[in-house]
Amino acid sequence: MALYADLHRHLGGSVVPRILWRYFHRHERDLAAKFQEYPAFEEFYTRERNSLDEYLELHTLVESVQTAQTLPYFIYRLIRGAYIFENLAYLELRYTPYYRTDEHLNQTERIEQMRSIVEIVGQASKMSEYPIITSQILCMHSRLPSEVNKAIVDLALEMKEYVCAIDIAGGDSYYQTRLEEFAGLYSYAREEGLNTTGHLYETKDGCYPQLLPYLQRIGHGIQIPLQYPELLPEVARRHQCLEVCPTTYLKTGTLKSLSQLKIVFDRCFEAGVDIAICTDNAGLHNVRLPFEYENLLTLDVIDFRQLQACQDAAFRHAFAWPYSQKPASLLTGLLSVDNPKLPVYQ
Ligand SMILES: [Zn+2]
Repeated sequence: MALYADLHRHLGGSVVPRILWRYFHRHERDLAAKFQEYPAFEEFYTRERNSLDEYLELHTLVESVQTAQTLPYFIYRLIRGAYIFENLAYLELRYTPYYRTDEHLNQTERIEQMRSIVEIVGQASKMSEYPIITSQILCMHSRLPSEVNKAIVDLALEMKEYVCAIDIAGGDSYYQTRLEEFAGLYSYAREEGLNTTGHLYETKDGCYPQLLPYLQRIGHGIQIPLQYPELLPEVARRHQCLEVCPTTYLKTGTLKSLSQLKIVFDRCFEAGVDIAICTDNAGLHNVRLPFEYENLLTLDVIDFRQLQACQDAAFRHAFAWPYSQKPASLLTGLLSVDNPKLPVYQ
């Protein structure tokens, strides 16, 4: 039995359109009035955007309703869907905790409140009805001041019970003027033993070789095989895994067609660079992980053998998967027809 791992999913983009629309109608009168009929909302929420910036704007709509009070509501539905419809055994959920704090508080108070947000997300993700192993990745953000980003790294260090890594997000073109600062924060995180990933080489405007050495995994990274294949041997030597999220590139206008990913997979396989296939924003796209897999197979971007290699890579590069084996290996003996413990039905 195949159970999957998703290493790159944003808390904001994980809310499927129907859940969000229903939430507006139950709790947010103004937003409900703006989106009266569901089909029009789904069309607005999931349509392709012209740029990464325009696409990221949508996150603010969800962030505005994901507060300390409402997070358990959304996380319950997220984990339930991931368990029932996606066969997930493992999920790393990422977000910028500062953007879930009360915007009426001052910066110091908001930094303090981040701790309880991490706790709320951690508690809400543990569900005996829908058992998935989860952990959090805290995202630094290109729009936030340095002291807030430093506080996010410190929080990740203090709350290892819930947090497995840090990330940088918020549009990769904005790192340009602050590269030294982000390199410093990553260097500090690595020295303290924290795992790292980062949205990098996602678009043509986000290619910064200066940040690469600090990352254990690369959020997207598709511009490396596409534009800078000469970097692949070094990426392989560092055992860095690319978190490739196919549907995103269509929604942000980065690629015209998923077929363009064939060169990404081919060059990475050839160079010995691992790829984990991820969803990024499964809700915002309305595309769940098994459909990301299926789309790549249908378009002949990869074959079944390569798909399984990517699924295995996801468990190998997971920051908080507690076992040495992937779940299929644990279950295969149990479900085998040769298992003497299986009851015989006649
Ligand atoms: Zn992302």
